[in-house]
Amino acid sequence: MSEPDQADNPSNTDVTGSTDVAPARDVIIIGSGPAGLTAAIYAARANLSPLVIEGEPSSTSDQPGGQLMLTSEIENFPGFVDGLAGPDLIGHMRGQAARFGTEYLTTKVERVDLSSRPFRVWAPDPSTGVAVEHRARSVIVSTGARSLMLGLEAEERLLSRGVSTCATCDGFFFRGHDIAVIGGGDSALEEAIFLTKFGETVTVIHRRKELRASKIMQDRAFKNPKIRFIWDSVVTHIRGDVKVEGVELHNSVTGEDSFLPVSGVFVAIGHVPNTDLFVGQLDMDEAGYLLTAAESSATNVSGVFACGDVQDHIYRQAVTAAGTGCMAAIDAERWLEAAEA
Ligand code: NAP
Repeated sequence: MSEPDQADNPSNTDVTGSTDVAPARDVIIIGSGPAGLTAAIYAARANLSPLVIEGEPSSTSDQPGGQLMLTSEIENFPGFVDGLAGPDLIGHMRGQAARFGTEYLTTKVERVDLSSRPFRVWAPDPSTGVAVEHRARSVIVSTGARSLMLGLEAEERLLSRGVSTCATCDGFFFRGHDIAVIGGGDSALEEAIFLTKFGETVTVIHRRKELRASKIMQDRAFKNPKIRFIWDSVVTHIRGDVKVEGVELHNSVTGEDSFLPVSGVFVAIGHVPNTDLFVGQLDMDEAGYLLTAAESSATNVSGVFACGDVQDHIYRQAVTAAGTGCMAAIDAERWLEAAEA
């Protein structure tokens, strides 16, 4: 990890010369999924008094906390023999970090300036809506990623009630059921192949006749006797009041409409990292995921670290996000120590 640069603005004066800005903290954590909250637990226990700017509740959850807030049951997070609900896991992590002095702001960061020091982060005050500037010597980015969705009304309503975006997380619940996977890329085929361990049948529904997935994944999927394909078709509606009953399809070539009865619908049409805030400031790959140094959470800006799904398009698990959150807090702590030396 490179040595910290000299502070460009070691005092707390803002650009107008006003001193009406809170002193710079040691660390601000942006995002409150398992990565951000694990970073907060470690940073707080290292006496760094972190501020977590945790985002806002979504239309389907009354608390921020990322994708786990949309997950009904988690059975693969180590330490919970009987599994637990995603919001409960986030609640435990949040409370654990608070116990050691983490502060939370329930608001969304609107803008960051990582070009001068201390780093500056602007977010609306939750009660007044007026943008407030926060300053920190180091920043941990854990803003996560979101699954692309089809945009159907029933999709959000039935999320965790048969609609899922993660086969590794939810496949187990569909033992012996008929399952549909939407998409034609590597994710869709990977999910479909994984789901054949549980499902009676797995039907991949793709909007074209050619798959986008790699040849090797196509070969595996075509060879799997449990997988069948419906081509040139889009899902127009997901039927079900309290749980999924099936999908309505429209064939764009023949114009025919049909119904496929399934109890699981896995939407696998891609992910988007939440990195808009950092465009032009932090290095990203072509898909917008933040780039970190090998075996480290360090970004290209010294003192800024990234963890969780915002920098991971491969594993995307709560436990891997938590692991990299731990790394980011340790990296930030060591970086701050080096800055003081
Ligand atoms: P992707 O390659 O972008 O594929 C997305 C698929 O979803 C495409 O087939 C696309 O159809 C379809 N799609 C997109 N929007 C849709 C919509 N509104 N309605 C219906 N279908 C829609 O995404 P991905 O599969 O998540 O993969 C992302 C990257 O990760 C890729 O580079 C992939 O190779 C990599 N990856 C690799 C592995 C592996 O190697 N094991 C596993 C997973 C992902 P069109 O084809 O018609 O555009």
